[in-house]
Amino acid sequence: MEVRACRQCFLREVSEDAFQNVYEYIASLDEAVRTPEEEYARRLDTCRACGELLSGMCRLCGCFVEVRAAKRALSCPASPPKW
Ligand code: SF4
Repeated sequence: MEVRACRQCFLREVSEDAFQNVYEYIASLDEAVRTPEEEYARRLDTCRACGELLSGMCRLCGCFVEVRAAKRALSCPASPPKW
């Protein structure tokens, strides 16, 4: 598995293999738990422009942002939160 280093990439762009597992996990989330698609895209757009994103991971919380953003009850760990 080739892993590319990319500061503003998401996990799906760094490692397709790793993202496949994450994608399956996100898809398995109950609809009541999962962030609606439009809001999910908005959250990821914000992460993409954030200086704390590093190879798909938020440097403030250590989460893969694609997973954190997928759970509607969670918020960005910045103070104040960016989403
Ligand atoms: S601080 Fe917030 S906006 Fe920035 S990468 Fe982390 S979760 Fe995303």
